[in-house]
Amino acid sequence: MDFEFNEDQRMVQDGVRRFLEKELVAKDKQYGDIEMTREVALELLALIKPFGYLGEDRATDPIMVSIINQELGRVFPSLAGLAFIAGQVGPVVADGAHPDVAARLAGPLIEGERIGCFAFSEPDVGSDPSAIACRAELRGDHYVVNGSKCWISNGHIADVAVVTVQTDPALGPKGLRQLIIDREESPFESRDIPTIGLRAFPCSELNFTDVKVPAINRMGGWRKAEDGAPRQAVGSQFNLPRVLCADVSCGIAEHAIEAATAYVKERKQFGREIGRFQLIQGMLAEMVMAYEAARLLTFRARMSLTAPNADRQVSIAKAYATEMGVRVTSKAMECMGAMGLTVEMGLERRLRDARMWIVPDGTSQIHRLIIGRDVTGFSATRS
Ligand SMILES: Cc1cc2nc3c(=O)[nH]c(=O)nc-3n(C[C@H](O)[C@H](O)[C@H](O)COP(=O)(O)OP(=O)(O)OC[C@H]3O[C@@H](n4cnc5c(N)ncnc54)[C@H](O)[C@@H]3O)c2cc1C
Repeated sequence: MDFEFNEDQRMVQDGVRRFLEKELVAKDKQYGDIEMTREVALELLALIKPFGYLGEDRATDPIMVSIINQELGRVFPSLAGLAFIAGQVGPVVADGAHPDVAARLAGPLIEGERIGCFAFSEPDVGSDPSAIACRAELRGDHYVVNGSKCWISNGHIADVAVVTVQTDPALGPKGLRQLIIDREESPFESRDIPTIGLRAFPCSELNFTDVKVPAINRMGGWRKAEDGAPRQAVGSQFNLPRVLCADVSCGIAEHAIEAATAYVKERKQFGREIGRFQLIQGMLAEMVMAYEAARLLTFRARMSLTAPNADRQVSIAKAYATEMGVRVTSKAMECMGAMGLTVEMGLERRLRDARMWIVPDGTSQIHRLIIGRDVTGFSATRS
């Protein structure tokens, strides 16, 4: 087993890092902690698209995918989330939509000319998606959608929402379907929900009141099996965003370690650099150990995406890396004393951003349940 990057991976990491530091550090300062607009999002997506952030040519080397995600997480964590979601919707529409709908929408979504989102969660539906209540009633050639969704990544700036709806409450979870709701064709309301961090990664509420959606916009069931496999063979659709959460958390931690290291080598107390004190070095060592462990777990999870034990590996990486991101940014602040607490130093924002990744795509508790179920063979949620 080789733990070093190969030459291609090193070259991509160097190139992406140089580009992001030149072009994106200033953009993160300008836009990274305020509500995102659709116009700015499109501008930023166009900037990073050539580096594969919207999904092009990524499946060939899984480690390369993690490398570029971690690099963006290190510089502009909100944009890493925004771009990931934006990059996922197009291929999903291309694979699962009616051919006419796919022909109209998939291209602009894949190219980053239109922005997409996925909406499962609702005010009363979080960790248990089977309880989804947003109602879609089939009336002739269209559905009528009523209900709301919340915490939807990119929701407020999205042109196209892939929305999970209940088509027949009598069927329970079997009545759930996904509808592609194109805001131009079927207008709906939305707003950004202010949160502690990732403020430039919209976390939104969507409201549907008698929204008419063509029946042809239902996902799935339009193609025959012989039409071929989905474009991206990446395993469970739930695991991909979970590894992204881990990647970005590693990027945030790397930034925090760099900032703390630079500070302790300059700052003097008791007549010497504080980096010479054993307890400061102890804090840095704890940070580096946790970061390196999270990064290895994340690479392993990324490489396991299509393996039979993917769920376990992904849950370990997601829970460990996202919690690590919070611990490491907090310790980095501690290395800097009062200076670490200032807005100017920027670590308080990284801590706020890091805290966000623990919740989406399965909370830490849900991932512990997945790991526990795999270890014991017992489903704790149903006992
Ligand atoms: C940044 C961000 C982005 C998001 N993006 C999207 C998106 O794009 N689309 C979308 O649909 N949703 C999105 N979400 C919503 C996210 O999926 C939910 O927040 C998540 O599933 C948890 O649901 P909840 O917040 O309602 O918490 P709840 O499910 O109410 O959980 C509350 C607490 O109870 C615990 N808990 C719940 N069930 C159990 C159990 N069985 N055993 C033990 N503990 C349990 C949880 O771990 C948590 O600590 C996003 C959320 C965030 C923060």
